[in-house]
Amino acid sequence: MEYDIIIGLEIHVQTKTESKMFCSCKTGYFQEEPNTHVCPVCLGLPGALPVPNKRAIELCILMGLATNCTINKEIHFDRKHYFYPDLPKGYQISQYKEPICSNGSLTLPSQNKIEIERIHQEEDVAKSTHHTESSTGKEYSLIDYNKSGVPLIEIVTKPCIRSARDAKDFATAIRQICRYLNISDADMEKGQMRCEPNISIQEKGKWEYKDGKILSIGDYKLNAKVEIKNIGSITAVEKSIAYEVKRLIEEKENGKEIMQQTRGWNADKGITEFQRSKETADDYRYMPDPDIPIIEISKQDIDRISKELVELPEQKIERYTREYGVSEYASKVISSSKQNSEYFEKLFNKLKESLDEKEAGIQAANWLMGTVYAIGKDVDINDLALLIVKFKEGKITKGIAEELLKDCLENNKDISDELNKFEKSSSENANKLEDIIKEVIKNNQKAIQDYKDGKTSTMGYLVGQVMQTTKGSANPNEARNILEKLLK
Ligand SMILES: [Zn+2]
Repeated sequence: MEYDIIIGLEIHVQTKTESKMFCSCKTGYFQEEPNTHVCPVCLGLPGALPVPNKRAIELCILMGLATNCTINKEIHFDRKHYFYPDLPKGYQISQYKEPICSNGSLTLPSQNKIEIERIHQEEDVAKSTHHTESSTGKEYSLIDYNKSGVPLIEIVTKPCIRSARDAKDFATAIRQICRYLNISDADMEKGQMRCEPNISIQEKGKWEYKDGKILSIGDYKLNAKVEIKNIGSITAVEKSIAYEVKRLIEEKENGKEIMQQTRGWNADKGITEFQRSKETADDYRYMPDPDIPIIEISKQDIDRISKELVELPEQKIERYTREYGVSEYASKVISSSKQNSEYFEKLFNKLKESLDEKEAGIQAANWLMGTVYAIGKDVDINDLALLIVKFKEGKITKGIAEELLKDCLENNKDISDELNKFEKSSSENANKLEDIIKEVIKNNQKAIQDYKDGKTSTMGYLVGQVMQTTKGSANPNEARNILEKLLK
């Protein structure tokens, strides 16, 4: 049997605000003492009233604008009920029927367009950790409420992703937008971004995708979907989906029915593990939160927030390849991080003062991806530009440029001083070498005559003589050039 793979992705991103979503507790709790960033609101004490964080809502709108979403004119908050020790109110404030952003899209490097169903605002829950007392073996749990109430946005795609690779690329694109627009640091190791794919496999030709939904054709019974939780890295998005697809196909081949369920990704073992059968929306008893009034978003608000939009990687790749003649591969690597693309653009502008535009683009990309990555330290843009221009003038080789850079960085030397010294000593060496070569010519008159008579292979012998006289310290190419010049 042949199957199609159907993937939808939910991505939670912790937005970068000073305070939590509904109270004034500070968000910067990483590695802080547990339960030090708390107040009656985020502890869920009775009678405490939530006040929405304006900046968090702006960041949610910004994400919507960057992904071509429609922005709702009214903001509604709803209560999503469930019981869990890390949710002290017994409900999470989220958005149900009217998310802030809806119907967006993002085009991947593969040119596949991913449709975004919604982006909504919600609050994070607390963090539980589970322990065992070593003397008695008794198990207990601790809860840290520092994370409770931190603003989150949830990006939900339609089930329109057809490969693990595209799912990974979509998560990567969302992370880049977060960083470019300062919506979030999206550091997955710190839990600032979490991905939850839902996956199903359907027999080829037995289903269709219509209005964002998967529908069966004829009397075909759709296979249930499986959701994977706890994905803590971008590579794990691709790996976990690939694993799950293989597992689902095996289940079907063995004649088993696929149950709707939530599974966890075990990164150490590289497998997914059963967690629970999945709740439906009805189980959550969504209802409007009566403590939070409806917030209106005006056109002026949208215009103001739009000013925070900057050129995104997709547009940068297009500009670098079209205007600067940089290869598509290099453009992708450079624009994958905001820091690198800023460095590239500054270096390009500096080089443009001495080189033509195309040459400046190509050299900036080559040296950034070669020398700067290899050195792995902050290379001063002016220093690097100076060396690149010298390289283009044929005054130094790339290897020498790298040595000079390393030396200056490690020993805190000035690059123009070192470059002057190098140029001076290399012209002295060239003069010395010329003298030596004149001597070699004088002492090898027979070989010179042979060469002049057209026996060009004698050149090798003459270069050998130069190398012997200089005890191998001369550059053979340079020696050959000088010999040819003198023998003309
Ligand atoms: Zn609080």
